[in-house]
Amino acid sequence: MARHGLPQPPLAHRLKLRLKRALGLRVILCDTCQWDWRSACHNPQRPNATWCPEYSRRGR
Ligand code: SF4
Repeated sequence: MARHGLPQPPLAHRLKLRLKRALGLRVILCDTCQWDWRSACHNPQRPNATWCPEYSRRGR
């Protein structure tokens, strides 16, 4: 378990995240998440989550 009781992202995700950052790509999930508003999401990582088990892409 990580801080705040949330599970750690898998190693493959962390490596992919590192690669995306190195390439200058966007890594913040909340910007495209349908739960990105205060009363819908109480995760402490919002609005800067880079990994989130509750992520759901907006507009699907
Ligand atoms: S559910 Fe996760 S990705 Fe979506 S807004 Fe909340 S913290 Fe961000």
